[in-house]
Amino acid sequence: MSRPVTTVGVIYLLHFERPYRHARHYTGWAADLDHRLAEHAAGQGARLLAVVKAAGIAWTLARTWTGTRADERALKRQGGASRRCPTCGVTPLPARRATGPGRRSAR
Ligand SMILES: [Zn+2]
Repeated sequence: MSRPVTTVGVIYLLHFERPYRHARHYTGWAADLDHRLAEHAAGQGARLLAVVKAAGIAWTLARTWTGTRADERALKRQGGASRRCPTCGVTPLPARRATGPGRRSAR
């Protein structure tokens, strides 16, 4: 729980098969996505996913980005997860800020 916000991991978007109250998506961040998804499948790691599991709602991994926790927070603050969700029938925009600092080009 004390990882620095600058750690680069995976931001992921889960799409619920049907809405739970007003929620249809869950945006999260993980250093180890497979491990995290296994936790979520067991109803652990996030309150929303625990109640979604209890309600018998399945979810799928709709999309991932590479980024930090700060990027995840910025993404959540923007809202409108369904506009970023390919499973909702949207063609995703090219990843922008969420890909992190453009370190891949020249050194
Ligand atoms: Zn969706």
